[in-house]
Amino acid sequence: MPDDKANSWEARADAHSFYGFTDLPTIRERGTVVLTHGEGPYVVDVHGRRYLDANSGLWNMVAGFDHPGLAEAAKAQYDRFPGYHAFFGRMADTTVMLSEKMIEVAPFARGKVFYTNSGSEANDTMVKMLWLLARAEGKPDRRKILTRKNGYHGVTAVSASMTGKPYNAEFGLPLPGFLHLTCPHYWREGRPGESEAEFTQRLATELEDTIAREGADTIAGFFAEPVMGAGGVIPPSEGYFQAIRKVLKKHGIPLIADEVICGFGRTGELWGSQAYSFTPDAIIASKAMTAGYFPMGAVILGPDLADRLDAAVDRIDEFPHGFTASGHPVGCAVALKAIDLIVNEGLLDNVRALTPKFEAGLAELAQHKNIGETRGKGLMGALEAVQDKATKTPFPGDLSVSERIANACTDRGLICRPLGQAVVLCPPFILTDAQMEEMFSKLSDALDAVFREVG
Ligand SMILES: *Cc1c(COP(=O)(O)O)cnc(C)c1O
Repeated sequence: MPDDKANSWEARADAHSFYGFTDLPTIRERGTVVLTHGEGPYVVDVHGRRYLDANSGLWNMVAGFDHPGLAEAAKAQYDRFPGYHAFFGRMADTTVMLSEKMIEVAPFARGKVFYTNSGSEANDTMVKMLWLLARAEGKPDRRKILTRKNGYHGVTAVSASMTGKPYNAEFGLPLPGFLHLTCPHYWREGRPGESEAEFTQRLATELEDTIAREGADTIAGFFAEPVMGAGGVIPPSEGYFQAIRKVLKKHGIPLIADEVICGFGRTGELWGSQAYSFTPDAIIASKAMTAGYFPMGAVILGPDLADRLDAAVDRIDEFPHGFTASGHPVGCAVALKAIDLIVNEGLLDNVRALTPKFEAGLAELAQHKNIGETRGKGLMGALEAVQDKATKTPFPGDLSVSERIANACTDRGLICRPLGQAVVLCPPFILTDAQMEEMFSKLSDALDAVFREVG
């Protein structure tokens, strides 16, 4: 290998970086895309190539990659008070302000917030809260956690156990006591002749049967994303949350909305639970909460869980849990600014304004003979590739169709993510009409090219 090749950014990335969630055959063939900076919704690589990032980084960079207000908010906080914890009865003033703001914008009349550094940690924290609560309330066997197949809740040992993806078997997960119910994807999971209402009812019955089989007093909580994100952008079937909410309520099982993707505007409402008209008992937030400018996650407890947990920890004088950087003041300053941009400075308005055009773009691509379904909510969408539209038969796995599509997009200066046989779109909230057109035209081109090869 010539020297310049051996010293390339791609080779240097390979030499010392252990990749996560990265298709290694693609890397071997194409090299890592090493990025230097961004401009609005675009990112730029070490060779000066520009890509429209139709995935907002990883769902989170909703204000784009060079927002001056967010950088200024971080800088001002770094200058004033660059770091502190939230242990031992001490806490930064900025953390106090963010909690007030979080409860103000949350779909709860009141509640309490606990901070983490990520969505995974927030889900872990919530599970520990439910376990502690169950013991304090004299129901120590209430430990099982219910989620859905294809649900994504993170990668720590507990949140990976909640995640309903086959790859976690590689780790010998899930841990015992983590149960995965049917994914509420009517197009894929509905039976021949079954109406959407019947499908929803079947899933509610499955939940009822599961609770009967396991015993309500062995179940700590039910976690669900309003729209499944990393499972392939799967909106729930009609009436799904109303149906399962009823069953859970009857058995006193809390419903936790994992709003790590949906929260803060992605669906066109501030919360995905609002988009589907249900009120959860608690919310897990992260990703867009800081517009991706600082790692941060949060558990937002609604009034009932906040009161019960307050009482539970009162007995033992403290909640023995927390991360060194929980409630980091710089993260809190960035989150305050990000929430302000979303709620007051037009980002959520722009999601709503762009949604009809986004839906129309998806609908047009759905005409393609190898696109089985397009689906989405607000500014999150997916296209599902199929070999045969009528029978919904997927392409053979070894064709790696969605990877091919994503790579064909990369070649055209568009970043979008392959997920199973689907391709995901979740552009930044700052997108313009012209950038939306660029996104769909490049994607359409890439689809034509790939389906010519494999279709
Ligand atoms: C990304 C994600 C998580 C995990 O968040 P991390 O910050 O990657 O740990 C949890 N839940 C959902 C719904 C997510 O999309």
